[in-house]
Amino acid sequence: METDVPRDHPRYQSLLTRHRIEEGVDRGITSRQGLIAEGRGEAFDYLLGEQTIPSADEAERAAAAQLLLAEHAVLSVNGNVAALVPGEMVELADAIGADLEVNLFNRTDERMRAIADYLVAHGATEVKGLAADARIPGLSHERGKVDADGIYDADVVLVPLEDGDRAEALADLGKTEIVVDLNPMSRSPQTAAIPVVDNILRAVPNVTAHARDLADASREELRAVVDAFDREAALEAAERRIRTGTLEN
Ligand code: ATP
Ligand code: MG
Repeated sequence: METDVPRDHPRYQSLLTRHRIEEGVDRGITSRQGLIAEGRGEAFDYLLGEQTIPSADEAERAAAAQLLLAEHAVLSVNGNVAALVPGEMVELADAIGADLEVNLFNRTDERMRAIADYLVAHGATEVKGLAADARIPGLSHERGKVDADGIYDADVVLVPLEDGDRAEALADLGKTEIVVDLNPMSRSPQTAAIPVVDNILRAVPNVTAHARDLADASREELRAVVDAFDREAALEAAERRIRTGTLEN
């Protein structure tokens, strides 16, 4: 399917993304609501110039440092993430020594299993989320399900495209949250300790690249990278870019 898009097409990346999401729906890993989320994301990406803006690159470096500092980092995977960046998520998990956990807004056993299998097909050795033996307080039964030795136990969680309610509930649990979301005005990035306003297609490989670059850094150096990151400034810079098309004040 991916080969149908000519590489020199000016909308190559965008068309490829749509194909992957469509394929995700056909494979039973992406929900139909995931198609709507994709459309919303594309609109914001268009306004961002479909590029990693400097403030997003800084957020990605801070995210890498925060993940390397974690006692127990968990990368949350939903249907859109699995469809778009399955191998890249496995690579990031390997680079920082994190767990992968499937976490769905509309949870069904079939989709949970299909996503876990898809990640294994892309090189994952272990995928959490199927045990569902713990609950995030403040969320309805189905939506609050997580693994006791996964997200529930984590100190740092990467939640790409997380829904606002769950992002807030995870923050209330005391997790240090890294959110990847193209809409800087959405509640999820607003809640995050480190909001990454970038397409997950670009964000995940770039966090991995930063993690590799920081692999030999001391804890003090990593902490300095995290402390230097200004979440408010990053959210403002992204919103400014979207509203005015400029990167400056
Ligand atoms: P809330 O304010 O409760 O979070 P919402 O309107 O953001 O609500 P969601 O279902 O969370 O509703 O929307 C999906 C989010 O995912 C949107 O903000 C969209 O911009 C973002 N998104 C979609 N595709 C991508 C992508 N490829 N990379 C990064 N973010 C994406
Ligand atoms: Mg949101």
